[in-house]
Amino acid sequence: MAASQDIIKQLALIKTTIAEYNYQYYVLDNPSVPDAEYDRQMQALQSIEQEYPELLTDDSPSQKVGDIPLPEFKQVEHEVPMLSLDNAFDRDSFLAFEKRMQDRIKDDSEISYSCEPKLDGLAVSLLYENGKLVRGATRGDGRTGENITANVRTIKNIPLVLRGRDYPERLEVRGEVIMTRDGFIKLNKTQLEQDKKAFANPRNAAAGSLRQLDSRITAKRPLLFFTYSLGLVENEQYPLADTHSARLRQLSEWGLPLSKELDVAQGAEACLDYYQHIGEIRDSLNYDIDGVVFKADNIELQQELGFVARAPRWAIAHKFPAQEEMTVVQDVEFQVGRTGAITPVARLEPVFVGGVTVSNATLHNQDEIQRLGLKIGDTVIIRRAGDVIPQVVSVIVDKRPADARDIVFPETCPICDSAIEKLEDEAVARCTGGLYCGAQLKESMKHFASRKAFDIDGLGDKIIDQLVDQKLVKTAADFFKLELIQISNLERMGEKSAANLIQSLENSKQTTLAKFMYSLGIREVGEATAANLAAHYCELDAIKQADLESLQEVSDVGAIVAQHLVNFFAEEHNVQVIDDLLAAGIHWPKIEKVELSSLPLAGQTFVLTGTLAQMDRNTAKATLQGLGAKVAGSVSAKTSCVVAGEKAGSKLAKAEELGVKVMSEQDMLDLFSELETSV
Ligand code: NAD
Repeated sequence: MAASQDIIKQLALIKTTIAEYNYQYYVLDNPSVPDAEYDRQMQALQSIEQEYPELLTDDSPSQKVGDIPLPEFKQVEHEVPMLSLDNAFDRDSFLAFEKRMQDRIKDDSEISYSCEPKLDGLAVSLLYENGKLVRGATRGDGRTGENITANVRTIKNIPLVLRGRDYPERLEVRGEVIMTRDGFIKLNKTQLEQDKKAFANPRNAAAGSLRQLDSRITAKRPLLFFTYSLGLVENEQYPLADTHSARLRQLSEWGLPLSKELDVAQGAEACLDYYQHIGEIRDSLNYDIDGVVFKADNIELQQELGFVARAPRWAIAHKFPAQEEMTVVQDVEFQVGRTGAITPVARLEPVFVGGVTVSNATLHNQDEIQRLGLKIGDTVIIRRAGDVIPQVVSVIVDKRPADARDIVFPETCPICDSAIEKLEDEAVARCTGGLYCGAQLKESMKHFASRKAFDIDGLGDKIIDQLVDQKLVKTAADFFKLELIQISNLERMGEKSAANLIQSLENSKQTTLAKFMYSLGIREVGEATAANLAAHYCELDAIKQADLESLQEVSDVGAIVAQHLVNFFAEEHNVQVIDDLLAAGIHWPKIEKVELSSLPLAGQTFVLTGTLAQMDRNTAKATLQGLGAKVAGSVSAKTSCVVAGEKAGSKLAKAEELGVKVMSEQDMLDLFSELETSV
């Protein structure tokens, strides 16, 4: 059937849309839409072209790689074109690819695939002549790239000279330049501090950093290179290996960085296992990946299969579900948390992202709304990675409707109408209503009943909402005054579950001082701090009476937390609730005081410096304190020992100057295990 005028018009529109997206993404390093939207447009284009092959033209975006190189850079002709990869967005399309591969080989043995993470950065070609790096280039449109030699030379893990001697005279290495995630976060922070625009994601930051005319800027950016293939090879001294994976290992021996996750799998099932495994470790990597790549490992087979317009036939990128999507902000509401913090929440047109349907995203605070320049009605990019709460990444200003509304931050609490205060040095605005505020009361009661606090079985959020709304519970002590009839009258509560709840309230009365302290919901007193307070003071009265100075001797407690504690106990109504709880029969076992002087590190002062690789600094500090040591922030002649992690600087120098004992992180861990077995 011939294509209708409508189809022809639709095709033209898709082509101009994709051309614009390409320009923004490849030339300006500033994508205007999430990749998922780009991929949808590309799939729509491909499906029309498949149905109406007469409409397929050579200049269609489906036949092209990347976009034109920027004129500011010298151009590089790629002697072997740099292609893209075909995509599989789900299991079925991967299996269809694998079946096509299997059908092409004569026998029915399973095909070996090189399995690699699909790094989300930008493709780079490195040319080595006689072992020396002579040229670095971007992919550009696949035939012509940009000469970025000065910039690639600044990337720390790219060797300027190859190791060994047995490399080919001319060797072109291809791979991906990426920016580490923590480096990206730091870079964006600095950009914002200097009133510069933040980068949308690490890929764009990597591309923007590499395509700088001033290589001193590139040198400051946290970029890394990982190789994934060979390009041009001339005058090799020895024949190259006959599989792709062995060639990669050879490149690694010549000093080129390889991703650690590289593997080889036999057949489709093993590939799918690899896909799943990489999906599971994805969040723990320090760089973004957007899928995995499977390549027929046998080079002869690769040569036999060849290429289509923009990609090899012997490879496929099996993509992960998109972590960024676009949707519309329908409204912004303001939630009040346990401590009165007012959090703006965007109500979204539901969208499938990161494997789930998302209909809310936190906007954190007023500053964040300003940074985003968000209005109600805007189309935004939402990101949901791992278990992290969905975030609004950016606003697509071009899609702003004429009737978009400004977001008005409330002046009084949306729940209780109390004044909202915003301290100078805090980004968060808070309701001043305290427990008068129903929202704060509900959240405090939920915290009190939660698993790590009083752990009251059967006292779920919905029940607490009703108890507070019906004014049956005004403080935590009221839970213990509830009568069977009051509970069984609540919605969705039978006689039996009411009796069970009374029983669990009774059971929860036996607790620990640490849990009790945590359940009070004092600001910034989390589980660990509550446990430290209990261990340090052993008795509730001692904590209540402690002053600012004494409190700061407790591990984990600094000036701010100490102030929160003092403020809390200075409020008469808080003391009353505590008395009521005790009167209701809350109790805990007595804690035996450990004599500080009997602890193995008593009387010693430690200083921690540099980056600890195996144990986080707070845990190290708490463990040292638990063993009786003091942990100080600066080195003096009185310091007993300095624990120097990686990149330790001035404190280590000072310790050496003063002749203070220095130990490595490993020495400290060894000391811990030695002392812990002897205590
Ligand atoms: P691609 O990024 O999907 O895949 C090809 C590229 O993958 C290669 O060029 C290489 O750089 C990289 N790669 C990473 N690991 C690899 C490995 N182990 N082996 C081989 N290659 C590896 O393709 P593309 O042509 O660069 O870009 C198309 C994609 O870019 C789209 O699917 C879309 O997601 C995104 N894009 C987005 C926009 C936008 O506006 N948001 C615009 C253009 C492109």
